[in-house]
Parts: sequence; C-alpha cells; structure tokens
Amino acid sequence: MPDPVPTPNPLLSRDFDRLVPYTPGEQPRIADLLKLNTNENPYGPSPSVLEAIRGAADDSLRLYPDPGSNRLREAIGRRYGVGPDMVFVGNGSDEVLAHAFRAFFVQDRPLLLPDISYSFYPVYCAFFGIESVRIPLAGDFGIRLSDYERENGGIVFANPNAPTGIALPAAHIETLLQRNRDSVVLVDEAYVDFGGESAVGLVREHPNLLVVQTLSKSRALAGLRVGFAIGDPRLVTALETIKGSFNSYPIDRLAQAAALAAIEDEAWLERTCQQVIAARETLAAQLLELGFEVLPSATNFLFARHRAMAGIELFDGLRREGILVRRFDAARIEQFLRISIGTPAQCQRLRDTLAKLIAHAD
Ligand code: PMP
Repeated sequence: MPDPVPTPNPLLSRDFDRLVPYTPGEQPRIADLLKLNTNENPYGPSPSVLEAIRGAADDSLRLYPDPGSNRLREAIGRRYGVGPDMVFVGNGSDEVLAHAFRAFFVQDRPLLLPDISYSFYPVYCAFFGIESVRIPLAGDFGIRLSDYERENGGIVFANPNAPTGIALPAAHIETLLQRNRDSVVLVDEAYVDFGGESAVGLVREHPNLLVVQTLSKSRALAGLRVGFAIGDPRLVTALETIKGSFNSYPIDRLAQAAALAAIEDEAWLERTCQQVIAARETLAAQLLELGFEVLPSATNFLFARHRAMAGIELFDGLRREGILVRRFDAARIEQFLRISIGTPAQCQRLRDTLAKLIAHAD
C-alpha cells in the first residue's frame, strides 16, 4: 500500500512546511562513549570560569541580567582591539548567525555561500526566505574566493571552513572585501583559534565585514551558549535591533559572568589550543599511515576518507565500538568522517579502533 499523503495540520502557521530544522550531532547515552562528533573541546573551560559561575550563583538570580551584556562586550572589545560598540553577543554563535542572516541577507539579490559548509546556513535561508546561490568548493575542497565576485546580496562562509577544516589566509578575504563593498561579508570563525588567521583586524577598514566567533570550541564552553560578532557599529546596531525584536535577555547572569572570565583567561586558551593542535597533528599522521586521505585542518577536527573502506562502514564500525564521529550524506563528502580532536588517549583509542576495523576488512 502506498504511504498515505500527510494532511496539513490546520493548527500550524502558513508556510510551516517549508521549515527544515538543522540536525545537530547526536548526544546519545552510551556507556564508555567516546564522543568525537560535535567538535567539543576535551579540556574543559578555564577554572576561573567555574569560579565565576559559582560566584554569580546567588540571590541576584532573581534579577534580570544586563540586557546589553556590557561588561562582557567591553572585555571582548579589549581582547580584540575594538570598542564595545563594535561587539555583539548572542546565545551561541548560532543565534548571532541567525540575527545576522535576518538583519543583512533578506535582499533582492542572492546570498552566496559555499556548497559544502556549515549546514545551518541553508536552514536560516529557508527560515528567513533568503534566496541563495551555493558556490561549489574547488577540487581540493578549498573555498575559491574569486568565485564570489559576482552580483550578491551578501556572502557567508566559515574560515576555517567546516566540515573540511581548511583555512583561507586573511589577505584573500581582504581582496574579496575590496571588490565587494555593497553587501555584508560574514566570516564565521568558529574554529579560528586552532590555527586559522582571523579577519578581525580588517573590520575597521571594511564596514561591511562581520566576523562571528564562539566560546563553544576554543574556550570549551559549548554548554554555556555564548557567541559574538565583531564589526562596524552600524552592523552591531542592526543586530541589536533584531535581538530586541526577539529576546531582550539572551545571555543570562551566569553566562555573562562565565564568558567574561573565559575571555580574560588568555593563558588557558593558548595552552589548551596548543594541546589540541598537537593531538591533531599526531592523529593526522596516524590516519595517513592507516590509508586515509586527510584534508589539511586548522580546526579541532579532521576530515578524512579512507582509500579503500566506505565512510558509512567505518562510521558504523566505530559506533559499535562506542566511538561517535560525524558523517554527512552529501555529494562529494559522503565518504568522509569528521573526527573531533580529543585528548591524546582518546585519539589513540580512535586510531586503534580504526586500525582494527581496517585490518578486519582486508
Ligand atoms: N559555526 C560553525 C562553523 C560551527 O561548526 C558551529 C558549531 N556547530 C557554530 C557556528 C555554532 O556554534 P555555537 O552555536 O555553539 O556557538
């Protein structure tokens, strides 16, 4: 019997069927699970962050937080060499991105974005009714910015890109900005602290550049939900307008205190990022030895495909052994695994399990 045609639910809004939500990496409860599927940081946040949360957990929680997150914005501004009027903060960089898409990209001309990139971008396009053109990555899976020099109502890409891990030099972005002055260029730098080159230094000269970062990855605060954007004060004011039309208090008191402490502990950031980078380089070399092709990564993950074994087989085999990685069912990348970098011991467990799976397939 054919499947019955689903009847539209009359309780839902018009156009509800158009929405296709983002699928986050799974968070299953499996004993002894090694979770290398959502690019979390294995080292945890700075101890001063936990202290700040404890310090803020008092009677003042009955009061609303500062809607402008002013102390936090000042600290981010100090860290990145801009004034607080050039900083916007949101509930995770996902929220910052959502507000930016709404503020800048609902245009008569299409938004340009890579065909292989963060899969939330097309979700926002559908949500806000943004027309987009998806520009294919080059043969080596890099973003070729000259392909973006065409009529557009905005440009968005991640640098380093996800899930490929490949970084672009800031000089390439500057060239794009010089040739594209009439629309916003949004650079999503979620992974930049693991070896990318930030475009933050270009924001003063380029009022159409918005750089978005997160505390979820290099500052190990995915559970806190804080992200930020740096750009011209006029862009920040526009983001404030969207925020004020949606949720006045997206950053709660505990999150504001914790994020402030995280931004101020530069030494912790440096040390833990170096540890992740070192583990990444060791794992990349081991994967090469096991017969993988590994894309050059400037992030806290590796994107790799085996020369003989199918991605789905490796993914399922790892899962049976309690190791979770991420795989995308999308053209050109379906054979790849995206593997978050864990501690050296976790990376070793992953390597040994892959070696076993590959040996058994021979
Ligand atoms: N941008 C990219 C490229 C990402 O991979 C992620 C994490 N899924 C985000 C933004 C969002 O991160 P968060 O909302 O935790 O700040």
